[in-house]
Amino acid sequence: AKKNASEPEFLQAVKEVLESLRMVVEAHEDEYRRDAVLERIVEPDRQVKFKVQWVDDKGQAQVNTGYRIQFNNSIGPYKGGLRFHPSVNTGIIKFLGFEQIFKNSLTGLPIGGGKGGSDFDPKGKSDREVMAFCKAFMTELYKYVGADVDVPAGDIGVGAREIGYLYGQYKRITNLYEGVLTGKGLTYGGSLVRTQATGYGLLYLVDEMLRYNGMDLKGKTCAVSGSGNVAIYATEKATQLGAKVVTMSDSTGWIYDEEGIDLDAVKQIKEGRRGRLKEYTQYRPNAKYSESGRVWQAKVDIALPCATQNELDLEDAKMLVANGVQAVGEGANMPTTIEATEYFQKNGVLFAPGKAANAGGVATSALEMSQNSERLSWSFEEVDAKLKDIMTGIFHKIADASERYNAKGNYVIGANIAGFEKVVEAMQAQGI
Ligand code: NDP
Repeated sequence: AKKNASEPEFLQAVKEVLESLRMVVEAHEDEYRRDAVLERIVEPDRQVKFKVQWVDDKGQAQVNTGYRIQFNNSIGPYKGGLRFHPSVNTGIIKFLGFEQIFKNSLTGLPIGGGKGGSDFDPKGKSDREVMAFCKAFMTELYKYVGADVDVPAGDIGVGAREIGYLYGQYKRITNLYEGVLTGKGLTYGGSLVRTQATGYGLLYLVDEMLRYNGMDLKGKTCAVSGSGNVAIYATEKATQLGAKVVTMSDSTGWIYDEEGIDLDAVKQIKEGRRGRLKEYTQYRPNAKYSESGRVWQAKVDIALPCATQNELDLEDAKMLVANGVQAVGEGANMPTTIEATEYFQKNGVLFAPGKAANAGGVATSALEMSQNSERLSWSFEEVDAKLKDIMTGIFHKIADASERYNAKGNYVIGANIAGFEKVVEAMQAQGI
């Protein structure tokens, strides 16, 4: 802890994971001590920090810091997103990279853990400025990445536009047309279903969790928060599987539609025009829009937080439990506070943590890597079927791990243990 004292987010993530691994660590104490397994897994293989210099539209030179942390490649090339946001620093990238090791392991696909980014703020920048920054960023990053080495993707502030500019620069410098980034456009190596993957994957996992516990998604009422990429495709798949989604939100307010959300209307507002959900009542006059309160006050069977971190706290959890919620599935990263998670678990609510439940995005990115290596593009149905298999598989891995360690039904513990076991086995097999 002393060594990483200036990285509070990283320390918090390590603490949370290690606490839930207590049982597995105790069961292998001598062996793990001898091989210094925990000491080795919390230390990144490599951390690169570099200068990114570019010129803005006024002709003024700008300097940012770039990062790439290659955490663990025991089971495959490093894989994890790039985040462009002013809050980015070593501790944040390290925390995300550490978590990524276990999420990627759970997918069952050969991908290791990494993360990167920059303190560059894309908000308010012109297209040319974003391009100039991306080119400068890749001019340094290309030295450390490669289709079989480290394959970054998008994250906050890095979408299709940025991936395109970064890919173009990698290709210009190296003259290689290879799958060095995922989340690419469909015309240059991107995969079908990547857009839908996180939301669809969430529902595939929640569906399997309910089934395993003798329940059924069909006929259930759901609250979804957010109205971005994850929320929209979670709502779409929930509806296809026979559930009814009655809420969605954005950072200004939330909608309640008793008859079930009209997703075409939401897509028109959000995907088409980047508008506000407030407009929803123009499409559905019987729906309610509110700027106070939260989606979690609706009476629902299933809660699917798909917006942002710490958006569901203890008070929300109490409301949901009082209204009879049966299951929670995290579409976003860390949307539920620790106190809220514990409250759900204490009250017998099934809880699928984001590390497992939102792994469909990175899993489909790994499928994009496979298609790039094969120089093939699989059909929508093919990728979707693989995604469904992967998510069902993840649920069984976490359920099984929770049962093997006497924590039946605690899928937080199950996810950490199942992700960890595979990585440690590979690390030990490969020696020191
Ligand atoms: P988007 O930016 O597409 O959407 C985020 C949504 O959340 C927007 O509707 C936004 O509203 C809303 N939102 C943001 N802050 C708040 C708030 N404080 N209260 C209510 N709503 C809010 O992001 P994604 O859908 O891609 O990502 C959502 C979450 O899922 C993030 O935690 C992300 O890390 C995680 N995730 C995403 C993956 C992916 O494949 N996209 C993969 C794995 C995890 P507004 O429109 O007003 O900004």
